[in-house]
Amino acid sequence: MNVMSTVSIPIPPAHAVTHVPPVQEERLEPGEREALISRIKPLLSEQDAVLVAHYYTSGDLQRLAEETGGCVSDSLEMARFGHAAQARTLIVAGVRFMGETAKILNPEKRVLMPDLGAECSLDLSCPADAFGEFCDAHPDRTVVVYANTSAEVKARADWVVTSSIAVKVARHLKEQGRKLIWAPDRYLGDYVRRVTGADMLLWQGACVVHERFKAEGIRALRREHPEAAVLVHPESPASVIDLADVVGSTTQLIRAVGELPNPSFIVATDNGIFHKMHAVAPAKTLLEAPTGGHGATCVSCAHCPWMAMNGLKKLLHVLETGDNEVHVDPQVGARAARSINRMLAFAGQAGITVAGMSGD
Ligand code: SF4
Repeated sequence: MNVMSTVSIPIPPAHAVTHVPPVQEERLEPGEREALISRIKPLLSEQDAVLVAHYYTSGDLQRLAEETGGCVSDSLEMARFGHAAQARTLIVAGVRFMGETAKILNPEKRVLMPDLGAECSLDLSCPADAFGEFCDAHPDRTVVVYANTSAEVKARADWVVTSSIAVKVARHLKEQGRKLIWAPDRYLGDYVRRVTGADMLLWQGACVVHERFKAEGIRALRREHPEAAVLVHPESPASVIDLADVVGSTTQLIRAVGELPNPSFIVATDNGIFHKMHAVAPAKTLLEAPTGGHGATCVSCAHCPWMAMNGLKKLLHVLETGDNEVHVDPQVGARAARSINRMLAFAGQAGITVAGMSGD
């Protein structure tokens, strides 16, 4: 890799994510799952609603989305599916920026979420006002933000990118002689910078799940399973990325499980993705990449606490009440859509398929 020097601007402590909720999966009594699903299915069709679920949500939600004509995907594909779908209501099972992105690309549709409190540490680390000041201080730079950001931050950006197109966009901008501001994920930004050599100022956000993966633990696991390929999401630290056989977005990692000949995989991303990986390659063994390391504490344990806030009971509640509608200021949404559409146009011109682009 071509490693270039960069300037990292530490974010003020006020922007650090200090509270991460515990992971609390939905617990259901025997028979409750079936009872909930039998009430949810007719409501989806009565309300002309479609369920779009992220790969990191529970197997129950992913199964239900697929059984009812919805989709299970990454954040951008969720929004694009919603746009193509005829349904007037989109139920987005994921985290808040995903609901907002769905609303930005589908302003005429009603967008509901099982839990509006489902945040993302990357989004939280990058408040729009502080980020705006940062951009104002560097007016010569092109502003590129990752999909895991609020509508306001997207509106401030020149480009919104997903993990699978970030390198291509950064390389394209570098070839035009542009210098970049990158936000909010410092690890993904560092990865893009190392691969492209672009001049990038990095906002110092991090994903509480991916930054916990430990290179030492992965090395040890690999010694026990020398046949395993290591799959890593680029929101992980450089020491973990450097061990990867495949670095990619959620969709790219799922595809790798199906395509690579290895019988087993060490997976460094949220373990919710195992549901889809098992479906793609049921005979293969999936191993969770270690998060704690020796003597360390595990906060996220390879599962996003905010993604875990989604569940069947909350889904039924929003269908019955219409609660938890996502609203985006139309002017902000229109500006954010410009930045997203710039990426989509670039992808189209470059012949890059949109399926497989992931904000997460
Ligand atoms: S897994 Fe990380 S990047 Fe994804 S929603 Fe959770 S905190 Fe955000």
